[in-house]
Amino acid sequence: MNGTIGVVNSQHSALRTTSVHDPAVECIVDLDAIAHNVGVLKKFAGGADVMSVVKADGYNHGAIEVSHVALASGASELGVTTIAEALRLRAAGITAPILCWLNPSDSDFGSAIEANVEIGVTSIKHLHAVTNAASDVGRATVTVKVDTGLNRNGVASEQYPMFLEELAKASRQGLVELRGMFSHLAHADEPYHPTIDVQRQRFVDSIEQARAVGLDPQKVHLSNSAATVTRPDLHFDMVRPGVAVYGLSPVPDEGTFGLRPAMTFRARVVLVKKVAAGEGVSYGHDWIAPSDTTVALLPAGYADGIPRAMKGRYSVMLGGKLRPAIGRVCMDQVVVDLGDDPGAVSEGDEAWFFGNGDHGEQTAHDWAEAMGTIHYEVVCGIRGRTVRHYVGDTAAGSKAPSLRSPR
Ligand SMILES: *Cc1c(COP(=O)(O)O)cnc(C)c1O
Repeated sequence: MNGTIGVVNSQHSALRTTSVHDPAVECIVDLDAIAHNVGVLKKFAGGADVMSVVKADGYNHGAIEVSHVALASGASELGVTTIAEALRLRAAGITAPILCWLNPSDSDFGSAIEANVEIGVTSIKHLHAVTNAASDVGRATVTVKVDTGLNRNGVASEQYPMFLEELAKASRQGLVELRGMFSHLAHADEPYHPTIDVQRQRFVDSIEQARAVGLDPQKVHLSNSAATVTRPDLHFDMVRPGVAVYGLSPVPDEGTFGLRPAMTFRARVVLVKKVAAGEGVSYGHDWIAPSDTTVALLPAGYADGIPRAMKGRYSVMLGGKLRPAIGRVCMDQVVVDLGDDPGAVSEGDEAWFFGNGDHGEQTAHDWAEAMGTIHYEVVCGIRGRTVRHYVGDTAAGSKAPSLRSPR
């Protein structure tokens, strides 16, 4: 019974996916970029395997589509947080190893075991819940998540010796098979932060402690995207990149690392109209036309993932130029100033909010800087009426064209 609601919800990703083009608001995911990025990460990984992290519906890019492409491009495993996310990938026919690492101890672990989903275990209580399920439905494959200093998820150090005893016992009883051990870094995006070395040492010690009680983790892993591209000494058996798979630089101050952003967010102009000097635009008249001008109305607002706090902080690529968005971000719409260039834009034209930057548009990183957040949150925030579709030669079974440039 537990987890049922999650499973039902997980059948529907946050964004509708369609093959119909030219909806009013769209999120385009370039699967060739995903393939390219996984290839880049595989090179950085050297001899280590790549687990592509596709939690949160593939950082809102579509977990199933991204997983298929990542596995075809050099990744050998997938990582998610919940059992429901893992089951959704299994239901889509994905047979590669899948690890899920954030489940309450009353989760339906039986469903994970039956679907051959690897379970990240993080406490004695959690382990007991897994072994209980295993005694009903069969042996569970587990990976220990050990806390080496993030002080968030993972087996706490004071519980670790006892945890290992319990794990060794469950292993002897045939209830669990230990496949791996992993941990997560607190400062990976500051590649030379001293905490990283402390965590590395604690991780190595944790593995030693496990071996000392007869446990033998086969796959040990510590690196997220940032560590994958900056710290080869942390690669161990496998790396676990997420954000870099989607082409977002894990350490923006140090460049792109050859990654290509996969998501473009855009809308089509629904109306173009003149506004006289001195007239205010949109709620509260926060923006007053300094001279006679022309504005374009775009049918996307905060319900679709443009935060209201972006007022006055972003520009839209439209009619061959970056043009300032003006006035408040409303629930359903925003307005762009075309200035003294009224002929450049017609109703139906595409306005690019952010993309990979190649066509002069802003990037998710630009939006993050404008908002005082990180690009992870920007791409995860696109929602509402936005319709997702896929482009690229890699797009399975689709004749999707490459992304066209804005006029
Ligand atoms: C989200 C997550 C990752 C991926 O992190 P990125 O910074 O996106 O590469 C890796 N490991 C764990 C445990 C995570 O929760």
